[in-house]
Amino acid sequence: MAGFSAAAELAEAHRVCVVEREPQPGYHSTGRSAATFVPSYGPASIQALAGASEAFFEAAPNDFAAAPLLSPRGEAMMVGLGDETHIAEGEALGLRPLPLDEFKRMVPLIRTEALIAALYDDNARDLDVDLLLQGYVKLFRARGGTVLPRTEVTGFTRHYGAWQVQTSDGDLSCAMVVNAAGAWATSIGELAGAQNIEVTPKRRSAVLLDLPSGANVDQWPLCFGAGETFYFKPMGGKLMLSPADATPVEPHDAWADDMALAEAVEKFHNVIDFEVTHIGHTWGGLRSFAQDGNPVAGFDETVDNFFWLAGQGGYGIQTAPALSRLTAALINGRQIPDDIAAHGLEPAALSPARFSH
Ligand SMILES: Cc1cc2nc3c(=O)[nH]c(=O)nc-3n(C[C@H](O)[C@H](O)[C@H](O)COP(=O)(O)OP(=O)(O)OC[C@H]3O[C@@H](n4cnc5c(N)ncnc54)[C@H](O)[C@@H]3O)c2cc1C
Repeated sequence: MAGFSAAAELAEAHRVCVVEREPQPGYHSTGRSAATFVPSYGPASIQALAGASEAFFEAAPNDFAAAPLLSPRGEAMMVGLGDETHIAEGEALGLRPLPLDEFKRMVPLIRTEALIAALYDDNARDLDVDLLLQGYVKLFRARGGTVLPRTEVTGFTRHYGAWQVQTSDGDLSCAMVVNAAGAWATSIGELAGAQNIEVTPKRRSAVLLDLPSGANVDQWPLCFGAGETFYFKPMGGKLMLSPADATPVEPHDAWADDMALAEAVEKFHNVIDFEVTHIGHTWGGLRSFAQDGNPVAGFDETVDNFFWLAGQGGYGIQTAPALSRLTAALINGRQIPDDIAAHGLEPAALSPARFSH
């Protein structure tokens, strides 16, 4: 998502090539998300970027996405005994108190006796990740961009002020490199002799649960345990359940952690009145974070013309429209776009310079 969204924005004024190791875009983190837009989620920089992305999600041109990118969902925070401290946090993020009988009408299988309170935000919506990604791929191609699939970047050298990029399919020469390698961003930085910025991939697991016959969960909100201890949401006629794990791992083709899933099923049983009898399709994905939790978007401090676009954590889909426009503005030497600044984003919070001392 990071690579194609930024490439599409940059292709308006530059010749751009996306080098992707996998046969298809979106094979790694992008294709494994929970597909939600939650503008109150994450640190201030993320909230600003998500807020500045909302208008695009709501009114993307027809030739970008033929169907709406957002659809109603809502999110409910489930507060159990001992979770009271999270109530104030939720309220500070704009979630409103949700009477438990109202919650029961929304989610008839909820065991309200397991809860002391619930909070609700109807601004959380489903986000069509594939439509968004394909929209950027289409826009990129329409602007003359080229894609090299099944091509791995293996090294970099500098030659007369240009980058020579070694790949599994031969060398490329270019003026500028954008490092949008997701979980592999640190190792790409290392290959280029750039700053040593630690972007740590953290595994998150998920499972799709089959429903008891006759159950229809389509209208359920996303429900999460206070303090992000687990969550579940409707997905394609089933229920996605995640332990909300965040285990630091090496970058790899991720898979689900069965132990974490078993714990999530136990938590699910505490609050929902149906027995999970078998585990369906499971998957794992990597959410990659810089040490301070903010994305890294800006020029490297030690090598020329190397731009970091990494560390989008658990928010890289819902921030892509604003982060890609910010990337294009910074690369083109322009000011941060007004609407992004109006959401309170400080580009310094994203700059690689914050890791240079
Ligand atoms: C379970 C889960 C739920 C999530 N839910 C949400 C959500 O609801 N909303 C949200 O906004 N975000 C969510 N996220 C986070 C979101 O998925 C990520 O922030 C986003 O996908 C990151 O995009 P990316 O392009 O940086 O990474 P990726 O999609 O991983 O792309 C990086 C690409 O770089 C390529 N690459 C790496 N190294 C090389 C190399 N040497 N040569 C060539 N190519 C290379 C890889 O093949 C890969 O395709 C979730 C993540 C997970 C795992």
